[in-house]
Amino acid sequence: MSGDNFDVKRVRFALHGGAGVIDRASLSYEKEAQFRDALNRITRASVDLLNAGKSALDVVEFAIRELENFPLFNAGHGAVINAEGIVELDASIMDGRNRACGAIAAGTTCKHPISVARAVMEQTEHVLLVGAGVDKFVQAIGAESAELAYFLTPERIDQQMQAAALGVVTLDHSSVYSKSNAADQPSPHDKKGTVGAVARDGFGDLAAGTSTGGMTNKMPGRCGDTPIIGAGTWADNQTLAASATGHGEYFIRNVVCFDLHAQMQYGQLSLQAAATATFARIEHMGGTGGLIAITHAGEIYLPYNSEGMYRGWFDGCEVRIAIYRD
Ligand code: ASP
Repeated sequence: MSGDNFDVKRVRFALHGGAGVIDRASLSYEKEAQFRDALNRITRASVDLLNAGKSALDVVEFAIRELENFPLFNAGHGAVINAEGIVELDASIMDGRNRACGAIAAGTTCKHPISVARAVMEQTEHVLLVGAGVDKFVQAIGAESAELAYFLTPERIDQQMQAAALGVVTLDHSSVYSKSNAADQPSPHDKKGTVGAVARDGFGDLAAGTSTGGMTNKMPGRCGDTPIIGAGTWADNQTLAASATGHGEYFIRNVVCFDLHAQMQYGQLSLQAAATATFARIEHMGGTGGLIAITHAGEIYLPYNSEGMYRGWFDGCEVRIAIYRD
């Protein structure tokens, strides 16, 4: 616990809607406007809540619920589809005050995976529930649930069918690739859509959360970095709050978010120096992705080694939105 008095000047916030090859040419003007509107609206609403005295944990959950509602992101409604034609949803949340955390993997009925992850944290003695256990828990606590049809969007169905026809697993949506041109094959590094949020509230407390449908055409039961505490999500008031997106297997192998914490805590590195070292390792192994992070001192850093990352943030002065490297 920080135990500090509320000071609106401490408020910081960042969110992401996934990192990957975000090709200007393939993103229509209308669709880009929809993404920008959603990023802007949700970032501003989150900052307003923090300014009004809401906790970092509450605002992270709020922001991710909003992102889960938005069908173009790969989480909740609009999540990607696995090789068996269903969604399997992953999410995690962590409280920087005490390292309390909760996560779910391969849930199929939760309308808001992030809230179920929070319920695991607050209402059970466990950290991670998987598979059928998630759906039973959703029912037991009366969390909002939905049938498969709620999650599916025509675009996701199309993507899954294309990925299945090509026999590939992809990180997310958008591009159509021709099998005849090897250079055009979908790559697991190509896409985006997972959502996440990090916040420092007016009391100086940090929180982080992440939610995803994972990878298109993934094997049933495949679990990425998103629900793995330390890989896809981390928050500790001593160092930082972080939420990752990208090719999850590489983020698990590098325990990315905890790696930043460890370098800052034990090596006294700055967030930027720690992230540079971590991304060098990921890149060396062939992985791509990005993350959003806020330090206990209020520094914000949003690194990625892919072409773009949907992101919005508040640095204490202004709200900013970006997709590309502009
Ligand atoms: N990291 C997620 C996963 O591997 C996917 C993403 O961030 O787009 O499941």
